[in-house]
Amino acid sequence: MAEIYFDNAATTKVDENAAKCALEVMCQSYGNPSSAHHKGLEAEHILKKARTSVMSALGYSSRDGALIFTSCGTESNNTSIFGVYEALGKRKSSIVISDSEHPSVEKCASELEKKGVKVHRIPTDGGTLDLEFAEKVIDGTTMLISCMTVNNETGAIYDIKSLCDIRKRKAPEAILHTDAVQGFLKLPYALSALGADLISVSGHKIHAPKGIGALFIRKGIRLPCRQFGGGQEGSMRSGTENLAGIAAFAHCCDEFTKNKNEYLSYIRAINSEARKQISEKCPFVLFNSGESFAPHILSISIPGVRSEIMLRFLSDKGISVSAGSACSSKNADNRVLSAFGLDNKRADSTIRISFSKYNTADETRLLAEAIYEGNSSLIHTV
Ligand code: PLP
Repeated sequence: MAEIYFDNAATTKVDENAAKCALEVMCQSYGNPSSAHHKGLEAEHILKKARTSVMSALGYSSRDGALIFTSCGTESNNTSIFGVYEALGKRKSSIVISDSEHPSVEKCASELEKKGVKVHRIPTDGGTLDLEFAEKVIDGTTMLISCMTVNNETGAIYDIKSLCDIRKRKAPEAILHTDAVQGFLKLPYALSALGADLISVSGHKIHAPKGIGALFIRKGIRLPCRQFGGGQEGSMRSGTENLAGIAAFAHCCDEFTKNKNEYLSYIRAINSEARKQISEKCPFVLFNSGESFAPHILSISIPGVRSEIMLRFLSDKGISVSAGSACSSKNADNRVLSAFGLDNKRADSTIRISFSKYNTADETRLLAEAIYEGNSSLIHTV
């Protein structure tokens, strides 16, 4: 059976050269970057070089701020939100997020709500941030504005730059964080152009292994230490670094920086081909993602067919897609799709197709044929 993987927003296949970098670090350059001997210095050099690579893929250099390596995007988001709360929570009383954040932001915000923090959620109907709402709720009480760069379920790109402008005028002391886990290396401009203070990214969405993420912290911002110990990562996150993961992550960043235009046009072309194949073969399909959304995510609804049923049908044919987001698929949470404007029926029949450099046009044809077949043979239950 063919193996067709269209769930790249959940995680990606590790790039073989990135895996080789990891193997080399594990088996050759295995020193501890904190050790003073030559193996330690060799490891420290790899760590330093990797930091520069990730910073540079974000559009920054060490003059602009610091980059700490974390275990994943979730950790980077938690560190940002609870860090800002700890730093500013005594003087400021509210935070602003969007109404369609990933659970690793939404659930942190709910925790702060329990502690008495006022949480404003900016509507994102149709994939557009309601900036008038943002203008109304961002004020002198705001300690944090946290909004994702690209939505993981629909691919909608949020206008972080305008949020930064509002922050500058109305809440200059507030910190602006963006969860760029889905936006990193998927947009034609560097994320530095957005003007955020804190940026979360994750390795496994860009062909690095799981277990490695990073957080960019703009110069002048100090977040409290979240993990005490040996003082690694600028004393913010102690613990011996995951150097193998870090080296692989840096490799993926360097590859992207070298081939950005080619890479993005390829993903965009695969997305367009999938749209074409699906609209030709499956005229009953409703497209949720707009053509100007992030190139790697295509959300569609198949009226009448529950997403888990279509997902299982496609999976039996060797095709992997996801129902909504991978994180929420286990508990049937329509929060994000409903914020996007889909009613429950349509949200329940939505699947997310997400692309990577490894997908081919032929795979999109097979996907469209399988969706057609599934729609004809499955019992319509929604
Ligand atoms: N933020 C977004 C937008 C995501 O899509 C994800 C994962 O799907 C995360 C955060 C969490 O990242 P990680 O899996 O690295 O913890």
